[in-house]
Amino acid sequence: MKIGGVTCPKCHAGFRRIELSSLPGIGGEYRCLVCHQILETFDGSKAIAYRLTVLPESRLAMDGSGFPRHPCPGP
Ligand SMILES: [Zn+2]
Repeated sequence: MKIGGVTCPKCHAGFRRIELSSLPGIGGEYRCLVCHQILETFDGSKAIAYRLTVLPESRLAMDGSGFPRHPCPGP
């Protein structure tokens, strides 16, 4: 078993990548859960699991506070 880290090149979300070379995998691709960028294509020779560990900061800033950075002056 091999564990590594992968960062999405597009939105900088962090993923944990777990490679299980003793298990047969499924061919295909893994896409970023946040922006759907392809992070890796699998040939099916081994099982690879991904887990989202770090959300991109821009998304946290936007969803975290729930308030805009510059308050609207209003009418
Ligand atoms: Zn992404």
